[in-house]
Amino acid sequence: LASRDFHPADTVIKIKGVEIGGEQLVVMGGPCAVETPEQIDEIARLVKAAGGQVLRGGAFKPRTGPYSFQGVGVEGLIMMAEAGKKHGLLTITEVMTPEYVDVCAQYADILQVGTRNMQNFDLLRKLGTIQTPVLLKRGFSSTYDEFLNAAEYILAGGNPNVMLCERGIRTFETYTRNTLDLSAIPVLKQLSHLPVISDPSHGTGRRELVVPMTKASVAAGADGLIIEMHTDPDNSMTGDGVQSLFPDQFAKLLVDLEKLAPLL
Ligand code: PEP
Ligand code: MN
Repeated sequence: LASRDFHPADTVIKIKGVEIGGEQLVVMGGPCAVETPEQIDEIARLVKAAGGQVLRGGAFKPRTGPYSFQGVGVEGLIMMAEAGKKHGLLTITEVMTPEYVDVCAQYADILQVGTRNMQNFDLLRKLGTIQTPVLLKRGFSSTYDEFLNAAEYILAGGNPNVMLCERGIRTFETYTRNTLDLSAIPVLKQLSHLPVISDPSHGTGRRELVVPMTKASVAAGADGLIIEMHTDPDNSMTGDGVQSLFPDQFAKLLVDLEKLAPLL
């Protein structure tokens, strides 16, 4: 079902007036994690002012270590839903277990499956039973075939609203946190009809690389971007402050993307 042979036309996912996979470049911006009502409200305001369409933020965080901050949970879903509504943004948040799919879908417009859960087949099957759009992140050691098979689980269950997200893979290089596989963007667009989103934040792990890799992703044909942005990245509650853009960088980047669009 994910294959372009089966479905030649691009899939366009429509959510409250925003089209993902169509003509419009969709920008999802926000913190790694929802922290406080004030934090998410202020960041939502800045995402909207810059021209973004979707507010990102994790309420349930998949942390490598069990003692690290794990997210604020359902409270965070509520804070983010309020900020999104107030500022006229769609919202995306990560869901980690099948048990939490319904509550996350109650509060968010798009559900994110993180890289570590790409092959959590019970989670994928559960997401196939609802219609809420899903942003499926590529496992950091997964092939394109494994990635598309993971998407297939959701599609096979009856949910056609799946977007694919390249977020960097593990290579021998350690300077960057991950290696953003730019080739994945045109390859996935060729093999599949599903929208392709790039995550240059996790894909590089370094703030100074996010701007160039965002532009490169757009040039490579991405339908959208998911970018971490924080008002106080040095004091963010996850380690992802180092890859989060400052609000002014985020705003300038979106202006630059507008200029890039007519060239492509
Ligand atoms: C995130 O988006 O904050 C995240 C944890 O992403 P990934 O699953 O790609 O590491
Ligand atoms: Mn993050």
